[in-house]
Amino acid sequence: MSGLVIDLAAIQANWQALAGLAPDARAGAVVKADAYGLGADRVAPALYEAGARDFFVALAAEGRAIRPLLADDAQIFVLSGHMEGEDLSGLIPLLNSPEQFFRDRALRPRGPFGIQLDTGMNRLGLEPGEWAAIRGEALAAGPRLVMSHLACADEPEHAANAAQLAAFRAMTGGVDAPRSLAATGGVLLGPDFHFDLIRAGIGMYGGLPFADAKPVVTLSLPVIQTREVRPGEGVGYGYSWTAQRPSRIATVAAGYADGLARALARQGELKLWCGTRACPVIGRISMDLITVDVTDLPDVPKDLAILNAAQGVDALADLSGTIGYEILTSLGHRYTRTYL
Ligand SMILES: *Cc1c(COP(=O)(O)O)cnc(C)c1O
Repeated sequence: MSGLVIDLAAIQANWQALAGLAPDARAGAVVKADAYGLGADRVAPALYEAGARDFFVALAAEGRAIRPLLADDAQIFVLSGHMEGEDLSGLIPLLNSPEQFFRDRALRPRGPFGIQLDTGMNRLGLEPGEWAAIRGEALAAGPRLVMSHLACADEPEHAANAAQLAAFRAMTGGVDAPRSLAATGGVLLGPDFHFDLIRAGIGMYGGLPFADAKPVVTLSLPVIQTREVRPGEGVGYGYSWTAQRPSRIATVAAGYADGLARALARQGELKLWCGTRACPVIGRISMDLITVDVTDLPDVPKDLAILNAAQGVDALADLSGTIGYEILTSLGHRYTRTYL
């Protein structure tokens, strides 16, 4: 199928697989940044249907967008907490600072909230001293969740994992509220990290570090035209590629404006696929177009795949020195989208 094909059943299966790795915890689902670019309006209801009841977004606006799509028993946690002026009805801010805590309690004294602790990442959350100062008041008000986030969970041997675990235990000893420390990487670190709720993200979407994930996206790009070029002729901006033999070049409809970074082609190793046959991308990736050497194909197909079983999001990420998360969240909105 051409365009961007998003396999909702694979997302559900990956969520279930991660949940199965943490059988004593509830499995939450992180659907921030439009469900990692794949469409929160489709992904969140599919995960609800699979059994998820705890959802995480980065911004209140993202939470408001999915709130009407989920039944009332779904909790939607907002990782940025209670930002000034934000409408949090139907949402649960994860309060990050004493300032957010006092603002939230003043403005929504009965509103549900959670607490985000900093156990060493130094990005978001209450530091130990700040937590000690408000802990009594916060716990008396019944937080829905007390959570923290791991900085190095994708490196199992990293000393920060044990240090953050110890810090989280020290900060949450005696807390009755549900506790959460693990995202995808943390789930894979083992049961010590699971606590009461896991926050599955990239693994659901088919990305590392969940090596056993089912692939979720395929992406094929329509061929707009093909042409024959003679030896010595250049192709594309800067003539960065010159034909060495009589060549057939296909031009496909996608470029860096669609999340396919110019850097993907820099090493000359990017391939587009016709079934199981790899065709080298040649020349520069431009805003809306990519050129491919299809000389060795018997026929030029209607479209060529850039994400498929042979070349997943992490393989693509490696080519441009990034991570699967960034490939997914960059994909953009010009592709024809099909949900399976
Ligand atoms: C993004 C995020 C997650 C999900 O992380 P993955 O690595 O994608 O599983 C979980 N918790 C927090 C606080 C996050 O910011």
